[in-house]
Amino acid sequence: MKFFVINSGSSSIKYQVIEMKTETVLATGLVERIGEETGRLKNTFLPGTATQRETVLEQPIEDHYNGMMLVIGLLTDKEHGVIADASEISAIGHRVVHGGEDFRESTRITPKVIEAIQRNIPLAPLHNPANLDGIRVAMEIFPAVFQVAVFDTAFHQTMPPHAFMYALPYSLYEQDRVRRYGFHGTSHRFVAGECARLLGKPLPECNLITVHLGNGCSMTAIENGCSVDTSLGMTPLEGLVMGTRSGDLDPAMHLFLKQNKGMELEAIDVMLNKESGLKGLCGMNDMRDIHQAVADGNARAALALDVQTYRNRKYIGAYMAVLGRVDAIVFTAGIGENDDIVRAESLKGMEVFGVRIDAEKNAQRSKEARCISTQDSSVQVFVIPTNEELAIAREVANVIRG
Ligand code: ADP
Repeated sequence: MKFFVINSGSSSIKYQVIEMKTETVLATGLVERIGEETGRLKNTFLPGTATQRETVLEQPIEDHYNGMMLVIGLLTDKEHGVIADASEISAIGHRVVHGGEDFRESTRITPKVIEAIQRNIPLAPLHNPANLDGIRVAMEIFPAVFQVAVFDTAFHQTMPPHAFMYALPYSLYEQDRVRRYGFHGTSHRFVAGECARLLGKPLPECNLITVHLGNGCSMTAIENGCSVDTSLGMTPLEGLVMGTRSGDLDPAMHLFLKQNKGMELEAIDVMLNKESGLKGLCGMNDMRDIHQAVADGNARAALALDVQTYRNRKYIGAYMAVLGRVDAIVFTAGIGENDDIVRAESLKGMEVFGVRIDAEKNAQRSKEARCISTQDSSVQVFVIPTNEELAIAREVANVIRG
């Protein structure tokens, strides 16, 4: 069975074709600059194998339909393609950013589901319309294929009201669904499942803190396999310090910036999303550059690292208090998987809570999931690579089975 996984952005389509029997990636690629003067498609067949084959096409790509047709042309290429024709695709999984309160699970796409994704556009005005573009085009090209929406927010729909409500006038929740939703749910759910496997326990018996540190960063408290709190809120701006996003700040900041700097709300929004976080503090948002700068004596880079890892510690402590018993802490995504310094700093001083890192295991580099805590650590610590596309494909398989 071959599944097609699609992550459609406003001017891009990221995709994978996965053979589900072996969970092998047959093709992976990215269509970029859709609707611009010069479009680009980069496709890799059988990535990471001896027969890996890369193709780059540069040409104007008018819209998502044209982009998708270009991809299908490559996938079905007589000489190098991985499918004979489109009918070999058994199911399609679409990443959808915001399911609001409508979706607690991944769901087969029907006209009603499309309507609900549309209804949630006010909560994700940039992402949901782009995700819908991908869905519409795939429905047009593959009308008979089973298609599933996998929501970034769904995993967190188990949060209780005391965790998801903002202390604002209640009418804002009643009328406009203003509340915390959380994101990165597919990643948190995936690494939680992998962690349960490594712990040798069913997920519904696991209490975990999953720490996703990439360009976007979030942390989730998982009780008995369910998300009970998460650091991203109504939008993906709340919580941890991210590459270019501020995370938590005083909500009166907007007024201060308006009154003292004459900034309009839109400019403040751009600043908080694109010019803040690590980049705001030290001018760099790639953690590798920041470490290099720290080594070269750059004090601001050191400060950025401190501010991020201190915020991580604060949230881990909070989630320990939320959960009481914690079986494991899991680090994932670009920084979480690769950065031993950030991991060590984020857990600094937590020996009193039973968290003991093995410095040697933490420093080892590997693409495999692994335990980095000491034998006597009462909370185990894992590094588990996230795999959003595979997670989406597994969700699709679950929906088909269900
Ligand atoms: P996204 O959130 O866009 O999916 P990723 O999970 O791929 O991002 O994470 C990207 C970030 O991971 C980069 O900006 C960089 O800061 C960090 N990163 C990647 N490789 C390393 C590494 N070897 N050491 C430290 N940080 C890394």
